[in-house]
Amino acid sequence: MRRLRRIKILATLGPSSSDSAVIRRLFEAGADLFRINMSHTPHDKMRELVATIRKVEGSYGRPIGILVDLQGPKLRLGTFAGGPVQLNNGATFTLDSDPAPGDVERVHLPHPEILAALKPGHALLLDDGKVRLIVEDASPERAVTRVVIGGRMSDRKGVSLPDTDLPMSALTKKDRADLDAALKTGVDWIALSFVQRPEDVLETRKLVRGRAAVMAKIEKPQAIERLADIVEVSDALMVARGDLGVELPVERVPSLQKQITRLARRAGKPVVVATQMLESMIQSPVPTRAEVSDVATAVYEGADAIMLSAESAAGKYPVEAVATMNRIGEECEHDPTYRGVIHAQRPDPEATVGDAIADAARQIAETLELSAIICWTSSGSTALRMARERPKPPVVAITPHEATGRKLSLVWGVHCVVAADARNQDDMVDRARRIAFRDGFTRAGERIIVVAGVPFGTSGATNMLRIASIEGQRNGKA
Ligand code: PEP
Repeated sequence: MRRLRRIKILATLGPSSSDSAVIRRLFEAGADLFRINMSHTPHDKMRELVATIRKVEGSYGRPIGILVDLQGPKLRLGTFAGGPVQLNNGATFTLDSDPAPGDVERVHLPHPEILAALKPGHALLLDDGKVRLIVEDASPERAVTRVVIGGRMSDRKGVSLPDTDLPMSALTKKDRADLDAALKTGVDWIALSFVQRPEDVLETRKLVRGRAAVMAKIEKPQAIERLADIVEVSDALMVARGDLGVELPVERVPSLQKQITRLARRAGKPVVVATQMLESMIQSPVPTRAEVSDVATAVYEGADAIMLSAESAAGKYPVEAVATMNRIGEECEHDPTYRGVIHAQRPDPEATVGDAIADAARQIAETLELSAIICWTSSGSTALRMARERPKPPVVAITPHEATGRKLSLVWGVHCVVAADARNQDDMVDRARRIAFRDGFTRAGERIIVVAGVPFGTSGATNMLRIASIEGQRNGKA
């Protein structure tokens, strides 16, 4: 099965999409990989979902990636004694260390380290930013605040602190247990929530020990300030627009999305644009025109993937949401202006042999109108550098490692094939021909370009390119 678009679709699984028949339909409709959100998924359910995805993968013979999204340090209020309270504009409201249920004047904040870090002038955003408080007086026992934007408040609502450096790791005790379970189950990507600093990612990498790739979710102002350093230590980024639009003014989200996607593309690291892409499809079989435009923006930005959250996890139309994204991707990429936009944003190659080869392969393939660029890749790095070029001809990545194929399912334009290792250079080229022919990327009389690192298996050693003609290939064993 071959996709007719380059941008990938990452679909979150949940109550609307956890049985095998729906997961199969999501894949057929266009989902390239699946996200399991540990905020809502117990370990046994996570293992069951992974097993189901692996079965679907087996029946299609195409690598399908699995991303486990850790909840991170989501801060919450305590409870209220008499049910929800109305916080009025201008009122005083205290958050304190007393675990007793609260009222209209105070509530417990069960995070002593946060009380200790708050300073006068810091903002507290409650319930996804619906209520806004400003700290007027702070001590390790209590923060006295003024209600700037009032509203109803009830038990355990979320608390965001855009101005406060949280003196805590991005991994909570729950995250560590979830991470351990996910790694034992053999997932491909781990997404880390509420990253503030590169050290958060490095701490996770130490625990992961190469068993999965690590994606940093960008959703905090502190992460924006250290974006370049975070990109450097991460395998991929997610523009987590939900929390980003709570922690920062919503009007900043579009420009931040552009900055994050550009920076990730320059570094050659995959970037996912996430949250509320087709939000109305939770309830409706058709999206709003504005949502279609939003998805299209991510396609024209050259993002690697677009994500569905509640639309595929808990909505009424999970398959329709994936199919809609699929159609928007295909349509935009066939627009005659698309190549020009993508070309204009292409970053220059870095001064490495790998980038020089990737740049040359793209130029040769485009000049000679070759039918495909075939990369032999062990760790995935050759395919990543090739995808960084956003070439016009399709990119096929051949790898002997299932884990590499699954990881690459997130990457722009890469069609992954898991096949036995090549014996030598001639075998490499011959098998590239056969696979490209078999999967419909080339026809007799056309030519392809083959890119690889020789000796094969040395990560990051891309150093070979060959142009190969297709001469009536047999659909034999690849
Ligand atoms: C987001 O905040 O946009 C996001 C993707 O994270 P979550 O769905 O975990 O809130």
